[in-house]
Amino acid sequence: MLAKCDACGLGFEREPGFYLGSIYVNYGMTSILTTAAYVVLWLGFDVAPRSLLFGLTPFCVVFPMFFFRYARAMWLALDCRLDPATFRDDVTSSR
Ligand SMILES: [Zn+2]
Repeated sequence: MLAKCDACGLGFEREPGFYLGSIYVNYGMTSILTTAAYVVLWLGFDVAPRSLLFGLTPFCVVFPMFFFRYARAMWLALDCRLDPATFRDDVTSSR
């Protein structure tokens, strides 16, 4: 991960443990997509639950690894939205 944004100078390195919250974003997105896929494929396309189990389990392992950086970005954006004062100071002090 870059130390700061090339465009605006926003520091990506927040306080220690800041990105732990992104785990919730990642887990939530994985859960929502898995549940939606299960329900749609099971009820809409009559796919056997055993097939869905074997199909969606690898998804639950691979998707969080793919989505890792996007979850971090979403967590950072959420914090920026809810607590913009610290980001304003960060951006202005780094210029
Ligand atoms: Zn930026």
